[in-house]
Amino acid sequence: MQKPNERLAGQTCIITGANSGIGEAVAHAIGMEGANVVVNYRSRPEEAEEIAHNISQHSKCGDAIAIRCDVSNENEVLAMFKKTIDHFGTVDICIPNAGLQKDAPLHEMSLKDWQYVIDVNLTGQFLCAREAIREFIRRGMRPEISKSLGKIIHMSSVHEIIPWAGHANYAASKGAIVMLMESICQEYAPMKVRCNSIAPGAIKTKINTEAWESQESLNKLMKLIPYKRIGVPEDIGSTAAWLASDESEYINGTTIFVDGGMTCYPGFTQNG
Ligand code: NAP
Repeated sequence: MQKPNERLAGQTCIITGANSGIGEAVAHAIGMEGANVVVNYRSRPEEAEEIAHNISQHSKCGDAIAIRCDVSNENEVLAMFKKTIDHFGTVDICIPNAGLQKDAPLHEMSLKDWQYVIDVNLTGQFLCAREAIREFIRRGMRPEISKSLGKIIHMSSVHEIIPWAGHANYAASKGAIVMLMESICQEYAPMKVRCNSIAPGAIKTKINTEAWESQESLNKLMKLIPYKRIGVPEDIGSTAAWLASDESEYINGTTIFVDGGMTCYPGFTQNG
């Protein structure tokens, strides 16, 4: 039986966009479970290096390194996987988390901003998932390490099901993650690949500063959250660590909503 806090010992995990917010917390949680961690970043290398250093210092049996890569660039994704495999030997867990918003009313949204969000939030997740699967197949099963050939955890959003006016590019990118994730599950589950998504609700990070920086906006936000607190990145970190471990082995092709009940339509609490 796996020991608590060593549920991912001997495994290697790439987390994209891990120098900030949710990605940083996921990297930390995965590292504390004993996995080797790749802290992917696009800008601010010093923050990524510090996070990797911190994980290495505190992990019982894993190590961590920072690797720069723009996830929307195919060659850079290929290079990130190559560097990871050269350094750690393989990849067991891939968490495509990098994401961004470029908001505008639809009639004012430029093609450039539409494409940019799709390139990072959707194509970036496709490229990372594809490279992960290629490596899972190349490496083959290691039953002493994990019951699965490999694990992919897409970072989606409640906006994979909640439409979002003024954010059509973002909502479309997250809606598409559902079909990407489910299709990967259907295609590779017979080879013992597990592919799932986590859909965070409102989590306090820099992507949504305006939603929590003043008491007024926080009060407004609470109307959308039955549990009456904003999420913190650690809520996602602990979910990801469990979802990557064999404890969740039979979970495949599904989205886990970590949202304090946001997807339970709180607007209908008072009879709609
Ligand atoms: P965040 O703090 O802004 O982090 C986003 C990360 O993605 C940053 O590290 C950013 O790096 C990175 N990134 C952006 N474009 C990239 C690219 N092309 N290549 C590599 N990395 C790139 O926001 P967050 O809240 O942690 O978001 C993480 C994920 O959670 C996103 O997919 C987001 O859609 C999802 N999510 C967040 C919430 C929420 O409430 N916070 C809710 C639902 C879903 P740079 O700083 O260098 O750009």
